[in-house]
Amino acid sequence: MTKYVYDFAEGGRDLNDLLGGKGGNLAEMAGMGLPVPPGFTITTDACRAYLRTGREPYGLADEVELHLERLEEQAGRRFGDPDDPLLVSVRSGAKFSMPGMMETVLNVGLTDATVAGLAARTGDEDFAQDCYRRLIQMYGRTVCGIPGDAFDSAGSSVQRHKAIFRQYTGHEFPQEPREQLDTAVRAVFDSWNADRAVLYRRQERIPSSLGTAVNVVAMVFGNLGADSGTGVAFTRDPATGERGVYGDYLADAQGEDVVAGIRNTMPLQDLEQRDQASYDELMSIMSTLEEHYKDLCDIEFTIERGKLWMLQTRVGKRTAAAAFVIATHLVDEGVIDLDEALSRVTGTQLAQLMFPAFDLSGGAPRIATGVAASPGAAVGAAVFDSHRAAEIAASGTPVILVRRETNPDDLPGMIAAQGILTSRGGKTSHAAVVARGMGKTCVCGAEELEVDLDKGQFTTNGHVVSEGDVISIDGTAGAVYLGTVPVQPSPVVRYFEGEIAPDADPLIRAVDRILRHADDRRRLAVRANADTGADAARARRFGAQGIGLCRTEHMFLGDRRTLVERLILARTPQQREAALAELLPWQRADFTELFREMTGRPVTIRLIDPPLHEFLPPLEDLAVRVARAEERGEDPGHDRDLLDAVHRMHEDNPMLGLRGVRLGLVIPGLFAMQVRAVAEAAALVPGSRAEIMVPLVGAVQELETVRDEAQRLLAEIGVDARIGTMIEVPRAALTAGQIARAADFFSFGTNDLTQMGWGFSRDDVEGAFFGRYLELGIFGVSPFESIDRDGVGRLIRIAVAEGRAARPDLHIGVCGEHGGDPDSVHFFHEVGLDYVSCSPFRVPVARLEAGRAAVESTGSDTR
Ligand code: ADP
Ligand code: MG
Ligand code: MG
Repeated sequence: MTKYVYDFAEGGRDLNDLLGGKGGNLAEMAGMGLPVPPGFTITTDACRAYLRTGREPYGLADEVELHLERLEEQAGRRFGDPDDPLLVSVRSGAKFSMPGMMETVLNVGLTDATVAGLAARTGDEDFAQDCYRRLIQMYGRTVCGIPGDAFDSAGSSVQRHKAIFRQYTGHEFPQEPREQLDTAVRAVFDSWNADRAVLYRRQERIPSSLGTAVNVVAMVFGNLGADSGTGVAFTRDPATGERGVYGDYLADAQGEDVVAGIRNTMPLQDLEQRDQASYDELMSIMSTLEEHYKDLCDIEFTIERGKLWMLQTRVGKRTAAAAFVIATHLVDEGVIDLDEALSRVTGTQLAQLMFPAFDLSGGAPRIATGVAASPGAAVGAAVFDSHRAAEIAASGTPVILVRRETNPDDLPGMIAAQGILTSRGGKTSHAAVVARGMGKTCVCGAEELEVDLDKGQFTTNGHVVSEGDVISIDGTAGAVYLGTVPVQPSPVVRYFEGEIAPDADPLIRAVDRILRHADDRRRLAVRANADTGADAARARRFGAQGIGLCRTEHMFLGDRRTLVERLILARTPQQREAALAELLPWQRADFTELFREMTGRPVTIRLIDPPLHEFLPPLEDLAVRVARAEERGEDPGHDRDLLDAVHRMHEDNPMLGLRGVRLGLVIPGLFAMQVRAVAEAAALVPGSRAEIMVPLVGAVQELETVRDEAQRLLAEIGVDARIGTMIEVPRAALTAGQIARAADFFSFGTNDLTQMGWGFSRDDVEGAFFGRYLELGIFGVSPFESIDRDGVGRLIRIAVAEGRAARPDLHIGVCGEHGGDPDSVHFFHEVGLDYVSCSPFRVPVARLEAGRAAVESTGSDTR
């Protein structure tokens, strides 16, 4: 029979799948001999069974009974005992932390009968009443769905709380402790599917199938007077990664009070004065936890009349900067090695660190200061309501969500906003925790703000900011500015650019060290997509080992458009050749510049790819111009020719029409001109390594035709260049064995391969059905963003295997956007590509992820 309940003594963090993070870690701490109140955990298995069938699984009730008895023994009190009642908390806790998204009910077990016993045992009647009130509220809200503010008018009277409960539910507050427990457990199960939890999971890409565990923990009381209290702490600063004491403490309070950011907390350091013994014990426990978890931990604790209790720990969330700094500090402290440090930072975090920061040299007016809760620079219109914020952001206006404090219902607005500003709460408030998790800029606890939600405005130091007024918030410094503050490049980018020394500060040092280690470890080379000398130069500074994609058509824009028009409008071979001859020197100059910037490194030049009409004005414009001219009795001349040409070239689906290699096969001399330009440029630049890439090939004969002509030209000019093809048409992937015989290299064009593999286009991402597909879970993330491993990925696997089988020295890379996407980079490592190519700004991200992929696969490679 499935075991659904685990005592803390039976569990551990290796069982987090089953016990959730909270339960697994409570058990872990209990196992370490730390002061954890006794308790047990109902598994995620039970939750999943309940969510599937709508009923608690068979046997669960008996198991709970058994473990409750053990809990009573350990606590030395009985549940429902009118003289000395055991009270418990019923706490959600999934495998991945979802801060505040699900429910917890405290003080379960209090009834009219037991409340007197609690008062008698503690000698504190007010306290007992306070606990009872909290139970009725929390239970009412969580189990019975009573609105949160319904109890606002009830004051401190238990009677009034009970009356409100009755009014909303139509029945009395339950007086049977076991009934309270069972219904609370069920409510926690249900909270897995609450709207906000679903939304959070989608945002954080947590699978919906996991379910939550439920922890039943003996209550300890922080609200028993001045020598009691409750707090949260981090073993290091979660914002910067620096060592030190970081936390908030609230005397005479119960857990929820700190996290909710309702009352202003005191810094944890001040606890030392109030209660030296508990403070010292806490510090020592925190270092024990760090040693054990080998990482930053965050904790929740409660002090009951001078006795310290640990209520939660986990490896703590942190900012991107802190992740890098902590990882290298731990290496210096001898706790982890560099491989481990590398695995603890992500490309997404590095990308965050490359965001711009505010340029304050213009003297922007600072109107308030708060806690630097989540770094970044955000500018937007102040909006005071979560739903309005989501609406306004959807209309395209960037917004800053301004609240007194946030709660889980604010999630839609938080997701939509550029940044979040609150007037209350510290680094551990809901706003701060959630914003850090999302990598979103947040300033919280800006106490100078008088937030008036009804009027939709705040006032601060004589300024009035109303809905729609633009403000700028700096989550790195905790500053709030009026109006738009300009942004400047991030220090990490300036370090890549060579403007900041690698040892400038702890963050730059950490990034430098970890990236160098990634470079040592990775097997994938990283190249950049670049079309100009400036892009190529930047790419090299960012660590690119070559150019994986130069789009030659970008060289046909601007002033040169008229030359291309002439090519398209040519009516005789002489006219066409003349136009091509004029284009040649331009192309040669462009390639020369690229080769110079990338001396000694490969430069892959793709022959022209897009349909030619893209170089002409849109059909509608031309038609209008021609019609107007004719109306005026004038000769439309050139416009008429263009219009005729556009009509001639019109295709219902130009992305599936005359483009790529097909252009080269039907327009005589076009590819030859490009190949000649490449060859002549290569001949000019010593150390150049040209690679010529043919786009949109679906059949080996296409490639052979182009290759034969190109090889003749190269030989004529006396230059050596690899000739290869993009693999971006499904047929190419499926006939890769044949194509490889004519190719020196393959480069996957994953955008087109995705488009043609799925049969929908990139433009659909914003269009009619993508949202629905995400909702249905047909994909968890757009396949244009992250490679679709099962489908498009299979085409890639086939092409790699059959290509290499036909030609073992075939060099294989990828040059679609996916080349800089962290998940996709891991996939490309797994399938054994030689390189990825991405935009210059993604190059450091790809270097890091390629290193992580290599370390991961050596760590766990069983294939
Ligand atoms: P969350 O997942 O939202 O942090 P928790 O289950 O940790 O929710 O509980 C909410 C608050 O109640 C926390 O501050 C926690 O420390 C406190 N709490 C939970 N269980 C107990 C208990 N047995 N005794 C005292 N406080 C508790
Ligand atoms: Mg908690
Ligand atoms: Mg393409």
